[in-house]
Amino acid sequence: MTQSMWSNWSGSVQARPQIVLNPASIDDVVKLVQMCRQEGRRLRVVGSGHSFTPIAASEDCLVSLDHMQGLVHVDTQSRTAKVWAGTKLKLLGELLFQHGLAQENLGDIDVQSIAGAISTGTHGTGRTFGNISTQVVGFTVVTGTGEVMECTAESDLKRFKALQVSLGTLGIIVQITLRLEPAYRLEYVSRRVTLDECLQQQAQWAEANRHFEFYWFPYALPCQIKTMNLTQDEPKDHPVKDYINEVLVENTLFGWVSELCRKVPQTSTLVSRFSASQVPLGRKVHHSHKLFATQRLVRFNEMEYNLPAEAMNAVIEEMRIELSRKPYRVHFPVECRYAKGDDIWLSPAYGRDSAYIAIHMYRGMPHAEYFNAMERIFLRYGGRPHWGKMHSLEAAQLQEMYPMWESFQQVRHELDPDGIFLNDYVGKLFGITNPRADANREIV
Ligand SMILES: Cc1cc2nc3c(=O)[nH]c(=O)nc-3n(C[C@H](O)[C@H](O)[C@H](O)COP(=O)(O)OP(=O)(O)OC[C@H]3O[C@@H](n4cnc5c(N)ncnc54)[C@H](O)[C@@H]3O)c2cc1C
Repeated sequence: MTQSMWSNWSGSVQARPQIVLNPASIDDVVKLVQMCRQEGRRLRVVGSGHSFTPIAASEDCLVSLDHMQGLVHVDTQSRTAKVWAGTKLKLLGELLFQHGLAQENLGDIDVQSIAGAISTGTHGTGRTFGNISTQVVGFTVVTGTGEVMECTAESDLKRFKALQVSLGTLGIIVQITLRLEPAYRLEYVSRRVTLDECLQQQAQWAEANRHFEFYWFPYALPCQIKTMNLTQDEPKDHPVKDYINEVLVENTLFGWVSELCRKVPQTSTLVSRFSASQVPLGRKVHHSHKLFATQRLVRFNEMEYNLPAEAMNAVIEEMRIELSRKPYRVHFPVECRYAKGDDIWLSPAYGRDSAYIAIHMYRGMPHAEYFNAMERIFLRYGGRPHWGKMHSLEAAQLQEMYPMWESFQQVRHELDPDGIFLNDYVGKLFGITNPRADANREIV
């Protein structure tokens, strides 16, 4: 038994689980699910705790798969690998590279667990790539009844489409089979352009580059664009330059100016302009898994919305107007990315090629007014929130956004009939206040 405090990465969520369990095998997972079921407990699995919402929090039983990491089996012919679900993305990249394989795309950090990343629809950028869940071809899951279930699109399409983004509500995912690429190298280029030029050109740049994203610093004229493309050039380490740019400028210096903004919020406008002028520019070549991830040492809170791809410019224009209307005291950049549409039931990119716009606020600075104002704009353009990031929506609105919502709930009932994987937060998202009563719901 434990009563120690658990907190997510940004510190926005705290919980005091009654038990924390660290299973080391599928058998252990089966036993703990059976135990929770018998004792009427509710449990949540936590990956790396990098979601900004209470989506992984538990006041009852918290389960971590940190002891279930690594490769289970690699098939270099079919370019697939079965991996333990607790594997952190950084370790996964290194292990796959040893077999000449790599993930086709990743987000901008690599500390999440693979199961945590796919459970919220974590994505990177690139118009031809879906989110990380689209890389999955098979699951091994311990369901709410303690059954070990293998699931692929071929064995059960409905369950598979529900599992690909499942918010930890269909069972404990213990193994994941991934579709992979032969290991590849990328050339990364960071440039500064004006926001106006960026808005004029960004749709073409997104088409022309394997990966494209831009960072817009509110109140500043310049913005940063980042591209990554395949190359055969030799990978090169620049330890001193990387340390200066990635640790000293992007983290230490940015941490200092963020503290200044927290203490004197009126400086945010100047700091945003200063940060835009200090963005490290240049070119790097490395193996893909080394280039996607950046270090994030300055803690913040974040909201991110998925939007129809063609809405990017209109939304940015509206955000720009709103930011000039009221002093929101923002010094963090707005991160703008693209992803390919998919057919995963609860994926924010369901049925549409997508733009993603993310807004941030330094930890300790009030974020509600800024986030609420921007969320109103996102919603006017058909936005769907990222499941791991802050938003204010509940079941009634979410249900409207997802055509397969009810089908997902039916699969959830089949796999977790007692609602043991629900916490209060997820219950609200799904419109369930009493999991026990919900267990008796008629399934049509
Ligand atoms: C600094 C930072 C940068 C980020 N960058 C990006 C980015 O570039 N792109 C992006 O899309 N998102 C990004 N995110 C969000 C992040 O990728 C997601 O919130 C992700 O879900 C976190 O993974 P995690 O392993 O920490 O999972 P957690 O936050 O611990 O859990 C997330 C969900 O996964 C479930 N889960 C975890 N393991 C299992 C399992 N074995 N079985 C069933 N369910 C499970 C949990 O119950 C929970 O519902 C970022 C977050 C931070 C803090």
